[in-house]
Parts: sequence; C-alpha cells; structure tokens
Amino acid sequence: MMGPKQEAQGALFYEFSIEDHVPSDHILRTIDGVIDLSGVRKHLTEFYSSTGRPSIDPELMMRMLLVGYIMGIRSERRLCDEVHLNLAYRWFCKLDLTDAIPDHSTFSKNRHGRFRDSDMLRYVFETVVAQCIEAGLASGQRYAADASIIAADANRQNSTPKADWNPEAIEPSDAPRAVREYLETLDDAAFGAASPVTPKFISHSDPAAQWTGARGGPAYFAYSTNYLIDTDNAVFLDVEASRSIRQAEVGSVKTMIDRVQKVHNLKPERLIADTAYGSGQMLDWLVEKRGIAPHIPVIDKSGRKDGSFERADFTYDAGNDLYICPNGRELKQNRRVFKKPRLAANKDETVRYRARKSDCDACILKERCTPKEPQRKVTRSIYETSRDVARVLSQTQQYAISRKLRKKVEMSFAHLKRIHGLGRLRLRGPCGAHDEFILAATAQNLKKLAKLAPSHNLIRKTV
Ligand code: SF4
Repeated sequence: MMGPKQEAQGALFYEFSIEDHVPSDHILRTIDGVIDLSGVRKHLTEFYSSTGRPSIDPELMMRMLLVGYIMGIRSERRLCDEVHLNLAYRWFCKLDLTDAIPDHSTFSKNRHGRFRDSDMLRYVFETVVAQCIEAGLASGQRYAADASIIAADANRQNSTPKADWNPEAIEPSDAPRAVREYLETLDDAAFGAASPVTPKFISHSDPAAQWTGARGGPAYFAYSTNYLIDTDNAVFLDVEASRSIRQAEVGSVKTMIDRVQKVHNLKPERLIADTAYGSGQMLDWLVEKRGIAPHIPVIDKSGRKDGSFERADFTYDAGNDLYICPNGRELKQNRRVFKKPRLAANKDETVRYRARKSDCDACILKERCTPKEPQRKVTRSIYETSRDVARVLSQTQQYAISRKLRKKVEMSFAHLKRIHGLGRLRLRGPCGAHDEFILAATAQNLKKLAKLAPSHNLIRKTV
C-alpha cells in the first residue's frame, strides 16, 4: 500500500539533540575525544583588548579550521557553509542548531592578526605532537625527512622574467601582503637567502614562490612543505615551509631537528632521507655536530664513465693524509713547504691530491688512469670522514630497513594531496604557505592520534 505523500510541515516545537545524530564512529567524534582546545583562549588572552565588542570565540575558529583541513575543505567561505549545514561539523564546533556561524572574513582577519602574532597554529600543532609522544605513538628514535612541492596560487601570465625583476623598486607600503612578506623573508635561510640564484620567473602576486620544473613536467610556481616524521607511526614531529630548492629543503631539516629537540626534548638515533640530503655538508652536520647516524645515500660524483680509474680505485692513508694509486705511488696535497701557507680547501670544499709527474710519465697504467693530463689528480671532500660514515651505514641491515621506513613520509605526502586536498595552495606568501602546511599536518596528526592512541582518556590534555 502506498503511503501518504510527504509534505513539509513545520512543527511548532522540536525536541532535537545534535549529539544523537553524530555517529559514534565518526572521525570528528573520535578526534573530539583526544583534543581539548580550551587552552587556546589562555594562549591568546594578551592579544585581545579588555574593552570593546566581544569577539568570536577563538576556540570555535580553531575547531572550524581543523574541520576544514581534516575534511579537505580549505576554502573558508565554503567551510562556513558546510559547518552551517553539516550536523557533525556543528557538533565538533560546539554549535547548536540555532547558533550563528562566524563570517568567513573573520578567519582571514585573525589569521593575519592575532593567530600570526601569537603563533597560535604552531602552538596547537606542537601540543598535538606532545600528545602523540605522551600516547606512545612517537619514540623519537628514528626520523625520516622529505619535502614535497605544492603549487602556489600564482601563474606564469602574472610574472616577470628575472632580467626585469628589481625588488629594490618595490615600495613596501603600496605592496600587497604576499609581496611584503617576500621582502621580509629575503634574508631568511628558508627563502631569499637559501640561494643567490634568481629564479627564471618571479610572480607578481606571490614573489616568494619558486618557479620550478623539479617534477619533470611544465614548470610552475610552488612552495615546498618539509616534513620530519617519527617512523614508529609516521607522526609528524615538525613541518616547515620553504622555497622549492634543495638548499632550502636541507636547511629546513636542520631547523626542524633542532626545534624538535628544543620543544619536545627528542633526539633521534638516525635520520632517514633520500639523496637530496646526502651532501657532504649535511652529512657532516649530522655526524659531527649532532651525533645522528645518517641513513642517507651519499651524493658522489667521483664515478667515471670512460673506464678510467675512479677515486674509489685509490686508497686513502688517513695517518699520512695521502692517496695510494693503483700503481702504488703516493698522491699528496703538497710536496714542499710554502713560505705563504696555502688554503687547505678549494672553493668547492674539496682538497686536491696530486701524483708526481715523473711517476705518471713512467707508469704502464697511465692510459687507464690519466690519458689526457700529465699527472693524476684526486679530490677529497673536506667532509669525507662523515661521507665514509654514511657509506659504511649503507651496507648494514638497518639501512635496508630504513629504506622501507622512508616510504612512510612519501605516503604522508600522497595523503596530504589526495585526502586533504592540498595539491595547490589557497593562501599566498611564505606565511600563507606556513599556515596551510601546519594546519594540514595538525589535521593528519589528529587523525593518527584518534586512530592509534590506545586509550583516549589517558592522553586527554589541555592544549
Ligand atoms: S698514472 Fe700516475 S697516478 Fe695513475 S696509476 Fe700511474 S703512477 Fe699512479
């Protein structure tokens, strides 16, 4: 029997509880069980005036931002609509059915104002990391680091070739926010100071974004998100925005390792990373300055394709600081004492060892060793001892395990782009990139915490 036609009938009174309509296994319900943002108000107290019109609750804004990054809704305008319509989002934000949703413009005002001045997003991120550590999800023994390129909100049509670019001609007071941030970060190691090389194109709307063709396809403007994860459960211990060039990404890893030690008192036994982090300087920083085992492939360009002897065919005698060639002759830095002492290292941070010309002239192996030069030269990095440490480690069983563990950081990037929708930035400037990356990493950590923490009640902590 067909039932009566459904007609909308407005009831005079409703008895309705949002609580009853949010499923017990909803991701936001599990996350709500592990996070308490009540400390946000205390953290921001000094950034609010004691007089005037009451503001929107900052905890509400933080909860809404987290909903956005957890559910992949990064437009604040759309986020406001979604929180208005979705019962689970309302419940997570502690809004009743009749409560008003903040206007989307409130978010940008606070993001550029109080949130940035108080570094609120980092405060929340670090507190969630502390919760993960407390819950036993991160032991801090093994770190993995990597960077991923995220397209900036800038395009080629609105850019200038490097020959025509003159940052000194920009008047900061007339410039948009992203341009002012570019000027402010010109001496920052993660941005302007990372490399003296000017990119081929500079965006007018976001000049700090790097023009890059690193993915092999057409070039575009981008920033890099740098992750430092604990390999136990792929918890993000730190995140940093930088230019999409290797020097900036390597520098970011150093910054993150030191910051995690300072904030969480964690120091790893090893760092796992790919070849991009295998420069002599980086390996030396890890081995000599921080005492961390580098599970990183060494960048080595000493190989030869023409079949002639490689540096590996020469034996280094550390006691006498010389190389022994395949014919048993010595290659030394200096064979006489100079009145004016010479610099030990060249500009490329290598030391050159030379064979005697008379030895090479009489050598039966000369054609295989140095067919075009009168005598053979071998260069040695001033960081060769640390490079050798990395080479020895690369032959161990632990290194083979590390290669597999490194996949966890790559998975995190795939997750960031596919699930959290961070294929392209929405905010401009280094601060915009920082805000988006840190919110996304907080959302990813919260999901892990909610899923993996053995008992939510045990780790509940005031932020
Ligand atoms: S050419 Fe010179 S450096 Fe090379 S094997 Fe002969 S003696 Fe040694």
